[in-house]
Amino acid sequence: MFKLADGRGTMILQGNTLGLGSMRSTQYRRRFYHLYCIGWLVLAAALITLRLPINPQKLWPWRHKNWADNELTTAVANCSEYRRRVAKSKARVYADVNLLRPKEYWDYESLVLQWGDANNYDLVQKVGGGKYSEVFEGINMRTNERCIVKILKPVKMKKIKREVKILQNVCSGPNIVKLLDIVGNPHSNTSGLIFEYVDGTDFKNTLSLLAENDIRYYLYELLKALDYCHSQGIMHRDVKPQNVMINHDMRKLWLIDWGLAEFYHPGKEYNVRVASRYFKGPELLMSFQDYDYSVDMWSLGCMFAGMIFLEEPFFRGHDDDEQLFKIVEVLGTDDLTAYLNKYHLEQNHRVTAIVGRQRRKTWSSFINQRNQHLISPEAIDLLDGLLRYDHQTRLTAREAMLCRIRRECYSSHKVST
Ligand code: ATP
Ligand code: MG
Repeated sequence: MFKLADGRGTMILQGNTLGLGSMRSTQYRRRFYHLYCIGWLVLAAALITLRLPINPQKLWPWRHKNWADNELTTAVANCSEYRRRVAKSKARVYADVNLLRPKEYWDYESLVLQWGDANNYDLVQKVGGGKYSEVFEGINMRTNERCIVKILKPVKMKKIKREVKILQNVCSGPNIVKLLDIVGNPHSNTSGLIFEYVDGTDFKNTLSLLAENDIRYYLYELLKALDYCHSQGIMHRDVKPQNVMINHDMRKLWLIDWGLAEFYHPGKEYNVRVASRYFKGPELLMSFQDYDYSVDMWSLGCMFAGMIFLEEPFFRGHDDDEQLFKIVEVLGTDDLTAYLNKYHLEQNHRVTAIVGRQRRKTWSSFINQRNQHLISPEAIDLLDGLLRYDHQTRLTAREAMLCRIRRECYSSHKVST
C-alpha cells in the first residue's frame, strides 16, 4: 500500500490513517439506510405473517376470489392453503356432501328467483317476528288456504337467495316447514316468503305441557329434521325453542326459520355471529370459524337440558362473554383447556379472565323435585353426549337418534344405520 503512487492508493492510506475509512462507511450506511430499514420491515412482516393466523383469502383476495364458484371446488379445497385450514377441523359426518353435488345445488348466489304475485295474498294478523322479519298469518286469495307471509326486513339479495335455495333443497325432508312462494319486487328492498301455515305453537310455549314421553318423542322428531338437513350439506345455525313449532294434538313438529342456515364446505371459515345467544356453542363464543353441523347439536343440547331440567334457557348469559362463563360454570375449565389445546385455539387473556377456574358440575346436581320425573339415566347420557366443548366428539343427529333413550321407548321407529 505504501508503494502505490496513484492518488487512490494515497487516499486509501490517508483515509485509513485519518479515520476516513469510517467516514466513508458512514456515507455508505447513509446512502443505503432506507434499504436497510426496508429490509428489517420485510423481515418483521414475514415473521408476523408466519406467526399470526392470517387468512390467506384476505391477504391475496384475487387468488381466492371465486374459490366457492369454481367448477373445480374439490381441487381448490385440496390445495395446500386450504388443507392447512381444513386440518384444524372438519365435520365428522356428511363433510363432502356439497363437494359431490353439482354447483347449482349450493351456489345460491346464482339462483334466479321466480317472483310470484303479492296480490294473491292477504294479511290476516301478525303472528310473530324477530330481528330479520315480520311474520303474518295470511290467506291465499286464489285457493282460500291459510298461509304464513314472512316479510323480510331489508337485507342483501344474497341472504334472501340463501334462505330460498336452502328451503328448496330441504323442503322434502321430514318435519321441515315448506316454502310455497316468493313475492315482492326484486328491485325494491321488500320481499316476502310464503310458507305453509303451521297450526301450532312454538316449543317454548308448549314445554310446560310435556311429559317425559312427549319430550323423547319430539326430540326424536327434531333429530329427524336435523339429520336430514345435515345429510343435505346444510347447517341450520338457529336451533332454539322459538324456531320449533309443535301441534301437540296432532303430535307433529316442524323446524322453521332457515334464515341463518348455510351450506357446509369443509375448510370454509364461517361467520360466528349466528344462532341465538343462549344456544350458541362454545366454538361460536370463542370465534372458532371452522365449525360445522355440530353447532346445531350444541343448540339442541341446550334445548334438551332446558326441557328435562325445566330451566329454560339452561345457559342464560346477558352477553356473549357471560354466555361462555355460564357454560364453563357447568362444564368446568379442565375440558375447556383440553379443547383449546386440541384446536390450537389461543386462550387469550380475555377468556382466561372471564372463565377463571371452575370445577365441572355433575348433571345429577341439576335434578330437583320439580324436574325429577323428566329425568332418566338415558336422558343424562344423551345430554352428556350433546353438551361437549369439543364439537368433533359431540353426538351427531344420527347417533343421537340411535341412543338408548329413544330406542327403548319407540322401538317401532326403526333407525337404519
Ligand atoms: P327470529 O329473528 O326470532 O329468529 P325470524 O324473523 O327469523 O325470527 P321466524 O322465526 O321464521 O322469523 O318466525 C317468527 C315467528 O313467527 C315464529 O317464532 C313463529 O311463532 C311464527 N311462524 C313462523 N313461521 C310460521 C309458520 N310456517 N306457521 C306458523 N307460525 C309461524
Ligand atoms: Mg325465528
